[in-house]
Amino acid sequence: MSLIADQLAMVRRRMAAACERAGREVASVRLVAVSKHQPAAAVGEALAAGQTLFGENYVQEAREKISQIAGTGGSGAGWHLIGPLQRNKAKEAARLFDMVESLDALPLAEELSRRRLEFLATPLPVLMQINIGNEPQKAGFSPEEAAAAALHIAGLPGLRLRGLMAIPPFTPTAEEARPYFRALRRLAEALRETTGMPLEELSMGMSQDYEIALEEGATLVRVGSAIFGSRG
Ligand SMILES: *Cc1c(COP(=O)(O)O)cnc(C)c1O
Repeated sequence: MSLIADQLAMVRRRMAAACERAGREVASVRLVAVSKHQPAAAVGEALAAGQTLFGENYVQEAREKISQIAGTGGSGAGWHLIGPLQRNKAKEAARLFDMVESLDALPLAEELSRRRLEFLATPLPVLMQINIGNEPQKAGFSPEEAAAAALHIAGLPGLRLRGLMAIPPFTPTAEEARPYFRALRRLAEALRETTGMPLEELSMGMSQDYEIALEEGATLVRVGSAIFGSRG
């Protein structure tokens, strides 16, 4: 087995154990293998080991990798954008990705919706990125503005709002991130009540803390270095 296959197997085992602790079905959660700064060959190894969902941060890097992977027969791969998106890259993002997890502003939402409908009749699945720690330097909707933003996004014909995503403040230990994960889950619950939308996806947890995020209800965990090693 390759190192990437080994590490994937370990992450999957730990995901299953975390789900079991929380009394959750492991089938209810998806692993997003974060392949930013990793070569297409690494993605190919992960694909060969059964991993089909990948996360990328940069549109241009993703475009090259996606076409390289498609060229080697990896057509079963799915791609999520998880990094900040500039409006002038919305056209390309709306075409490349199966989901944009990092939707962080309404003008961007409008542009993505418009661009998606230019070439596809099916709406682009999106998550609203929430600045769950209210950090001044961090992207995302504040928890306070989330309800109004969700209703606005729900009215855009080219997007389908599927849930929330967050990158909590850095904490020295994984356990210290738990209150932020819990806060995101509670925000999703509150938004379901006020908007009537299902908002079924919660993207939270990275290599350091995905097990805690799963205990708190994550449906998507974004794991990079624990699978691919350091990004150099
Ligand atoms: C890079 C990145 C990850 C993965 O981080 P690791 O610590 O390598 O698991 C997850 N989410 C986002 C938004 C990222 O930018």
